[in-house]
Amino acid sequence: MATIGGNLMQRTRCPYFRDPANFPACNKRTPGSGCSAIGGVTRGHAVLGTSEACIATYPGDLVTALVAFDATVHLGDRQVAVDDFFLLPGATPDREHAIAPGEVITAISIPASAAAQRSTYLKVRDRQSYEFAAASAAVGIEFEADGRRIKDLRVALGGVATKPWRARAVEEALKGKVLESDTVRRASLLAIEGAVDHGANHYKIELAPRVVARAILKMGETA
Ligand code: SF4
Repeated sequence: MATIGGNLMQRTRCPYFRDPANFPACNKRTPGSGCSAIGGVTRGHAVLGTSEACIATYPGDLVTALVAFDATVHLGDRQVAVDDFFLLPGATPDREHAIAPGEVITAISIPASAAAQRSTYLKVRDRQSYEFAAASAAVGIEFEADGRRIKDLRVALGGVATKPWRARAVEEALKGKVLESDTVRRASLLAIEGAVDHGANHYKIELAPRVVARAILKMGETA
């Protein structure tokens, strides 16, 4: 049986992580053993939230939307904001979630918002099916009464970071602005602030802001 909680907990697709016979060095699998990806083939690896210990991308799609809309993960009586549920790798990439031994995900709740009601998910990948995101964006928007200026905006990125990545700088830059192509494209560059590439994944730094801009502008077409 598949569950939403199981979808949240899915492991990275880092090929080195999944091939212990050929690549024993993996800090996520065996803490302290090193990282085979750094200096290796990195096309699918993250450019945001990385550390010297791990550059593995969080692979899921669903959570990208949950992060954009401030969902909460319920662990029995304990509740954690979904953004805090996923941990950055830092020096301990083997610790991926803020879940304690014995805890189980019992529910996910998503607060109602006007932005969630006008939303989209844009996923760009190497082939059309059975492929993880090279870059994706979950976007929700609420317009002011004039139907042109942005009242609320939610933006989260998938496929480019070590955890689902909320792009708050893009949101803040566009709130109160008229949805217009140049403004949106300029603000979307903020999505990738602080990005670090490892060679073959450099294209994600170019791609991610374009995916964000395209998703936001698409919301304008449906206004
Ligand atoms: S990127 Fe992370 S998961 Fe992949 S080999 Fe390095 S430590 Fe392991």
